[in-house]
Amino acid sequence: NDPSSRITGFSIRSILQENDDIIWISTDVLYKWNRRTGEIKDFETDSNRPDDFGNTGPWSMIKSYDGKIWTATTEGVFRYDPTTEKSRQYKFNPADTLGLPQKEAFAVFEDHQKNIWVATQNYFSKLIDLDKGIFKSFAYQTPLPYNQRVRPVIYQDKKGLFWIGTRNGLLVFDQYNQTFFTYKNDPTKKFTLNNDNINSICPDPANPDKILWLGTSGGGLNKFNIDEGTFAHFTESEGLPNNVVYGILPDRNGNLWLSTNKGLSKFNPKKNIFRNYDVLDGLQSNEFNTGAFYLGKNGEMFFGGIKGLNYFYPDNVKDNPYIPRIVLTKLKLGDDVITVKKNNSILHKTISETTKLLLTYDEDVITFEFAALDFSAPRKNRYAYKLENFNKDWIYSGSVRSATFTHLPPGKYIFRVKGTNNDGIWNETGVALELIITPPWWSTIWAYLVYLTLFLLILYFIRSYELNRLRLKNQLKLEKVETDTLRNLDHLKSSFFANISHEFRTPLTLILGQIESVMSSDIATKEKGKLQIANRNARRLLTLINQILDLSKLEAGSMELKAEQHNIVSFLKSIFYSFESLAESKKITLKFESDLSNIPLKFDPDKMEKIICNLISNALKFTSENGEIKVSIMVISNKIKIIVKDTGIGIPENRLPHIFDRFYQVDSSITREYEGTGIGLALTKELIELHKGSIYAKSKFGEGTEFIIDFPRGELNSENNLLVEINDENISFTDNEYLHDLHDDSEITMSEENQLLKTGQKEIVLIVED
Ligand code: ATP
Ligand code: MG
Repeated sequence: NDPSSRITGFSIRSILQENDDIIWISTDVLYKWNRRTGEIKDFETDSNRPDDFGNTGPWSMIKSYDGKIWTATTEGVFRYDPTTEKSRQYKFNPADTLGLPQKEAFAVFEDHQKNIWVATQNYFSKLIDLDKGIFKSFAYQTPLPYNQRVRPVIYQDKKGLFWIGTRNGLLVFDQYNQTFFTYKNDPTKKFTLNNDNINSICPDPANPDKILWLGTSGGGLNKFNIDEGTFAHFTESEGLPNNVVYGILPDRNGNLWLSTNKGLSKFNPKKNIFRNYDVLDGLQSNEFNTGAFYLGKNGEMFFGGIKGLNYFYPDNVKDNPYIPRIVLTKLKLGDDVITVKKNNSILHKTISETTKLLLTYDEDVITFEFAALDFSAPRKNRYAYKLENFNKDWIYSGSVRSATFTHLPPGKYIFRVKGTNNDGIWNETGVALELIITPPWWSTIWAYLVYLTLFLLILYFIRSYELNRLRLKNQLKLEKVETDTLRNLDHLKSSFFANISHEFRTPLTLILGQIESVMSSDIATKEKGKLQIANRNARRLLTLINQILDLSKLEAGSMELKAEQHNIVSFLKSIFYSFESLAESKKITLKFESDLSNIPLKFDPDKMEKIICNLISNALKFTSENGEIKVSIMVISNKIKIIVKDTGIGIPENRLPHIFDRFYQVDSSITREYEGTGIGLALTKELIELHKGSIYAKSKFGEGTEFIIDFPRGELNSENNLLVEINDENISFTDNEYLHDLHDDSEITMSEENQLLKTGQKEIVLIVED
């Protein structure tokens, strides 16, 4: 059905092989084709045709034992002699009752006795006289269905029974009993024909007397057991390519070849196995035609289809035994085809030669293409691939020749491909390619090592920090305990001192009293001097004891401040100059400075005296001959500043912070030349603080010392509970007026003042009572 082949017409009705070369093909037109020369003779259009074959192609053609060709046509039956190229027509003639019973012959058949049989719509007729054209006709019970395309097929078994496949079931004709029997599809019964449209009848090659194979349009293959009268069915579900089976031809190996609507199938009736062939194996198309099949001489088979004719010797149709070589043909990363030629290509050899491939983790899409090197029917080659370490099982890709992988995690893989040739022979070894996807730097083993060390370092730092903290905490605790014990000890010490001191005081007072009474009596001057020393030391001892008692009182918080408002300038001056005689004896100059002559300040005179005396006596003590002691007083904003400055030995800088500590002396050696116990400054400081003031020292070693006292003005007012207000007028000692005078007359020293007090005023009476 190809213009170039010069055979036209939609479908082939019948095929006949006359000899090796000559093939008769009937479509709408009858053609005689010489295979060897390629010559095709068209019987209708050939003006030299020997006789008429009817105006259409014959429905069926046979070659009789004598080499004549018989055709069944719409114009009856023709008998053609290839040697003479003459034909004779057996034509329907209504007047001739012995002739062909009907105009149209559906099929022509030669039986075992070389008789020619013709099937028409209503009769099955036997040609009993070849020359006279006399037929013996047998009428069917029901006429055959008329179908433009499909005509009955006839087969005679060994018993002589005729089997006629029709559009309406299977007829069996017994010529001796002249009976017809019909096998038809009965949906209620299981083992009946599954389809009444019979296209072909073929005896089983192994069991021709017992079993007939029937090709149907829609029911596939039916296996008819003559003795039992049962039908078994072979359809697509058994492996048949299609349920429309046109022709069935047996080969010499016991196989049946079936032409279907979906290719050709080789059926093994013993094993019930189908081996299917399609257009890729060289068929004209996948679709074959009704009636277009013929078993030729020497077993050659002819099958006609919608696009032409296939003819072959079944023995030559062999499976391709060659195991194909499998190769990789292409590597694609994303859309880029990777070649060796490109610079920096990851391929050093062609992909088919590469056995190991190194890729980075950021290749998202990796595609491999591969091929089986078998070109018999390349489109029938099948493939399977597997990425070991990623795919568990083989992936059967059919005829698809590529595999794509996306987002492969870093790691080692082996890509394997295996494949088949067109006949399904697998190359199980296939081809393998080692694929390594390198991880990014942050997930390499080195990176993990770094993470680990960092982690350990952090752990270490946290641990050591924690340990440090604990140690500090413990240290603090320890220090606290230490200071607590120290404080307790200190407390114990001072209370012990206080208790002892108190016990010292009464006997000391008594001793002093005795010494004074002896001194005032009339004794020798020599003895008097000794007594004076005793007196002085006893007094010193008393002062010390008093100081200790003062300190413990301060510590206990029971020291009361008896503050009064006085002129601090005259008060200081009087105390300062009371040291004049002592200073003179040591050749020390005393200097007093004040911007103002009257600075009122609230203070406790007794305590202030102790403060100032302490500082001045220190200054006198630590200043050598020709030195100078200066007391200055000034008002700076809200503060009153008192400075006691000397030009004495000074205090080394590192000792300076300790001088206000109790019993601290810069030179504490027993051999030191200065007397004292180291309590004076401690007391002084406490007393100043009681006044809400502050004291600090500045000194340069060897050059002199300076003590600076700051008193806030009016600060004491708020501390009413501590203040004992004393009316100014009651204390003549601090009489401003008087001090003024004193100030004015600087010639008069403090001691003289006291003298004046003694002489000019009433006597003081001391009453001791218990
Ligand atoms: P105490 O006053 O109890 O009789 P002391 O004078 O030695 O004994 P503090 O007045 O407390 O004790 O003085 C403590 C120490 O400070 C002194 O021993 C001395 O070393 C040093 N110091 C105090 N004042 C001066 C000063 N003006 N110049 C040099 N050193 C001084
Ligand atoms: Mg002192």
